[in-house]
This record gives sequence, C-alpha cells and structure tokens, in this order.
Amino acid sequence: MTDFNATASSAPFPMHVSVEQARERWAALLPERELERLPLRAARGRVLGQNLAALVSHPSATESALDGIACREADTLSASAEAPVRLRVVGESRAGEPFGGQVGPGECVRIYTGAPLAAGTDAICPVEQLEEDGQDVRLLRPARPGDVRPEGGDFRAGEVVLRAGTRLTPARLALAAALGHAEVTVRRRWRVALLSTGDEVVELGQPLAPGQVYDSNRVGLAALLDDLGAEVIDLGHAPDSPARLRELLGAAGGADLLLTSGGVSMGKYDFMRDLLMEGGEVAFWRVRMRPGGPALCGRWEGLPVFGLPGNPVSSLVVFQVIVRPVLSGEPLASVVLTAQTPFPALPDKTAFWRGVVEGGGVRAYTQQGSGILRSLGEAGALVVVPPGENIKTGDRVQVVPVM
Ligand code: AMP
Ligand code: MG
Repeated sequence: MTDFNATASSAPFPMHVSVEQARERWAALLPERELERLPLRAARGRVLGQNLAALVSHPSATESALDGIACREADTLSASAEAPVRLRVVGESRAGEPFGGQVGPGECVRIYTGAPLAAGTDAICPVEQLEEDGQDVRLLRPARPGDVRPEGGDFRAGEVVLRAGTRLTPARLALAAALGHAEVTVRRRWRVALLSTGDEVVELGQPLAPGQVYDSNRVGLAALLDDLGAEVIDLGHAPDSPARLRELLGAAGGADLLLTSGGVSMGKYDFMRDLLMEGGEVAFWRVRMRPGGPALCGRWEGLPVFGLPGNPVSSLVVFQVIVRPVLSGEPLASVVLTAQTPFPALPDKTAFWRGVVEGGGVRAYTQQGSGILRSLGEAGALVVVPPGENIKTGDRVQVVPVM
C-alpha cells in the first residue's frame, strides 16, 4: 500500500498561489542579466542572448547520404535483380575531394557519405544494391534521388536556427558550431546565494545527536545550481535566530538572488517567513502543491529571495518545479506514461507523487511523506496529478524525471 497521506493538508491563505502563478511571480522578481561573448566550449548551459543565424549552408554542396555510386536516375529506372542495369565507373567523389569531371549518360562515379554529387548526376544507388563487374557496376534496383542531401536542405546561410533565450545544451552547442559560430553571445551566469537554516541541521562530518539531521539540502541544491551553470555563493548554515538570519541576508549582496532552505512553514521558529513578512516584501507564501506547500518568495532589501521548505523532498521538488524552469528559461520537461497504480488527486493542489518508472509505465513509490529521504534515491520520477483529477491504473499520466 502506498501511503499518500503523510503530509497534513493546509487551509487556504491569501498569498496562496498555484504552481503556475508561483513561477510567474518568481520570474517577475528576477533581474535581467548582462550579455557576454564566450567561446563555444565555454558556453555550455548558458542561455543565448541573441538569435543565432547560420553563417554557412548545410550541406554546403548537394551531397550523398550513402556509400554507393552517383548516376543519372533516368538511366536506372528499369533496373531490377532479374534485369540489372550496367553503368561505366568513370571516377570517384570523396568527402573533401569531389569528382572534377562531368558524368555522361550510362556513366557513374563511386561516392561516399557526405561527398558532393558529381556534375551531371542526380541520384544515388547504395553499395548494397550493386554488383561489381570489372570497370562497370550492375544496379539491382533504380537509383534514388531521395538518397541525395540537397545543398542547404538542413539550413541555409542567413537563416535563424537558434533563438535568443534558448539554453545551450551539448546538442545545441554542436548545432551552433555547425552554423559556423566559434563564439556566442550569452547571458551571464546566475549568481545565487545559498543558505540553509535550522537549529537541528548539522554540518556533514560532525557527529549527530538525537533530533539532529545532516544538512542534505545545501548539498542537493548546490548540485542542482551547478547543473544550471549558476555561480553559487555558499552562505553556509544559520541557526533559527532572527538576528543571525538578518545578518546573513545582508551578506548576500552581489548575488542576483538568495535561495534558502527551511524556516518558511507555520511553526513558531520559522523565522525566514517572519523576516520577509515583517521586514521584506512577499510575492507569495504557500503554493497549492504537495509536497512543497510552504514555499515562500519575495524580496529582502531589494534582493529576490526564494524560501524553500526544509523537508528535503519538498525543497528539491519545489526547486525543480518552480525555481529551475524560471532560472533556466526552459519549461519543465515531462513525458506521458501509463499509470501502473492509482495516483489520487488532492482537491485544491497539484500533487507531485514520487514514482518508479518501470516497463514503460510508472507506479507509486511506497512512501510519499516529504520526510522520506530515501525516496530521493529510489523514486526517479514525479507523477503530476492536477487538482481533483484522480488517476486510475491504466490512465495516461504526466511524469517529470527527477533531476
Ligand atoms: P522546516 O521547513 O525548517 O520546518 O524543516 C522541515 C523539516 O526539514 C525538518 O524535519 C527539518 O529537520 C528538515 N530540514 C530542514 N532543513 C534541512 C536541511 N538543510 N537538510 C535536511 N533536512 C532539513
Ligand atoms: Mg526549521
């Protein structure tokens, strides 16, 4: 049995927002970042600051998609295994070394993948469909114009292929290189100050007394920020003391934003919440989602602050679902899979149940409490259940891979 009730439900609250509203309000707080020019290899994970147009066409000349011979399609239309067509081989076209002459009727040239088509030819016959016969080849089927890659068939010089705002993944870096760019204009990295809070939270490597817990959030969040290509300013860990918190918030100057963990819930010692409510500006407090309901967002002396809940599951889910899409400029990636178990809906919240992807479907992880840390290692997916829309076994469901 999966335990879906491990977190208490919460009453409505004025600054309570939906997941989409939370992303919008968070985005509205963030500053515009300056642009910089970088060599391509240094631009991994960055967001393009300008449209990227092709400087060259690809293919740069009409070329073969296969190894075989290039010939005139019209010569080969009658070719079959029973009645092969014979063509005279008059030369060769290699990638980087095209055939210099003209190919006439009844003639062909040997050609290899990526080699320019010879003048006079318009089709390719693959090597698998040829028989060698001295100076000649015999074609066992007609040559196909479809095995030719036309000049500019991929992109043409001048065409915008990557748009400003696109994140440069390894695949897109390769594309930018193929477009002819050695350097690109990108947004500078986010500078993110990171702080964890909680009297019970202990540095790694220290002994743990009963009631204490290791600071796992700061490790996970720093790694997520690294993945985003952000510059992390590690403010360490703060006790539940308003004075100390105030001091550390002040130390985050120079950062674009401050990410905190803990202290944003309903408890007496949740001072991040109190500080922002009393001395700052609140954009929202509490999101209609589970886990992660108590998330807080606002400003402290002009600095955008996102207060993640302390529960490790909640903090990582809120980061992935709300914080990350806004910082990366990329919508939350998801796939649709078949539910192998039911996933209950909550009446007024989006549920992100932990799931295990297996055999083309997804089943519920056994323990759904936001304090169940081992789910971080064992459940590779978040199953998104919109408010009020129960998922039955066999239904199709949206699944977000856990970062
Ligand atoms: P809080 O949001 O501060 O009320 O914390 C909620 C729960 O998360 C408590 O059980 C905390 O012990 C735990 N917690 C808070 N901060 C961290 C952290 N940095 N690493 C691991 N667990 C934490
Ligand atoms: Mg706390």
